Amino acid sequence: HSKDCVKVAVRVRPFNKRERDAGSRCIVSMVSSSITIQDPRESQSCRSFCFDYAYWSHSSFARDRSGLYVPEEPGGRYADQNSVFQDLGEGILENALQGYNATLLAYGQTGSGKSYSMVGYGPNKGLVPKLCDRLFQAIRENQDTRQCQVFFSIYVVDLLSRGSRTPGGLRVREEQQRGFYVEGLRTVPCDSVEQLMEQGTRTRTTAATNMNANSSRSHMLIILQLKQIFSKESITKQSNINLVDLAGSERQRSSGSEADRLKEGTAINLSLTTLGNVISSLADVAVGKKVVHIPYRDSALTKLLQSALGGNSRTVMIATLSPADICYEESLSTLRYAERYNKPSQHIMNSQDELR
Ligand code: ADP
Ligand code: MG
Repeated sequence: HSKDCVKVAVRVRPFNKRERDAGSRCIVSMVSSSITIQDPRESQSCRSFCFDYAYWSHSSFARDRSGLYVPEEPGGRYADQNSVFQDLGEGILENALQGYNATLLAYGQTGSGKSYSMVGYGPNKGLVPKLCDRLFQAIRENQDTRQCQVFFSIYVVDLLSRGSRTPGGLRVREEQQRGFYVEGLRTVPCDSVEQLMEQGTRTRTTAATNMNANSSRSHMLIILQLKQIFSKESITKQSNINLVDLAGSERQRSSGSEADRLKEGTAINLSLTTLGNVISSLADVAVGKKVVHIPYRDSALTKLLQSALGGNSRTVMIATLSPADICYEESLSTLRYAERYNKPSQHIMNSQDELR
């Protein structure tokens, strides 16, 4: 069912310095899994949305001696990295161990907490390192029944370079048997989280330098491939976990000429719109609706994710928000985008449409 195959979470972060300095007001509130946002210019005007999970990470948190953010009091309201992992990460891991694919996406405006949730900073480890830790732990625990191999690849899809190229100018190609894949992409085997994260950081830095790609206009995609060999039963199970830190969803206001800005904005919107279209088509398929065409080919990202979306695979999106009045437009637009993932077949957006 679409309810099981696509899950949507929202998370609200604390005020940042800019918002505090501006004397911002919090316009977001949460009650269980529903979230309400208030129009700062019309206090009567509120919109509510209901998702599978809603995380209040806005206030009442403390820092322990190691710098870890935890709820201020036991049972306090601040949703920390652990509670997010328990809800979103554990299921993905279990699914992968059973041989199914999964995709986890972070969507939101730049500075809203995508990387914090996905990767984390310092001791506040996010979903990716926690998932890796637990994966290697599970492999150790199951050593008697199966032999496991993990392959790790990470790349940055820059939305401004032409066509479907990845760092180092690799090209997305299609083959009948394999589906879409990245030509010449090096997939490295790994044995530990440390090795994995180190490789990740190195690749990301190289990619960023080579392509001058910053996170507001590039997607970062991490693919973990798990191969499990059950020698007694002579079965092999293979599953991919895709972890995607998406480009900033805001309308681009970067430097450069008007024409450049327009081109950038269009490329990014197109990519995020296509992703939304693909996932809502898949949700339709899951509830048994006839879907003629799933527009994987419309963007590099959806081509790459194709093999891990649909079928028995699981998709989780975490939409991240600023709590501040000054971000109202962007936050509302994030909530609207996230809503499409939860409700199949609302509408297929036209690729030329603006996101908002
Ligand atoms: P994005 O990747 O969406 O551009 P970041 O994840 O880098 O944004 O977050 C911006 C800032 O907000 C960072 O300094 C980060 O530490 C902080 N932040 C984001 N989410 C949270 C959260 N849930 N709890 C505490 N701090 C957060
Ligand atoms: Mg980021």
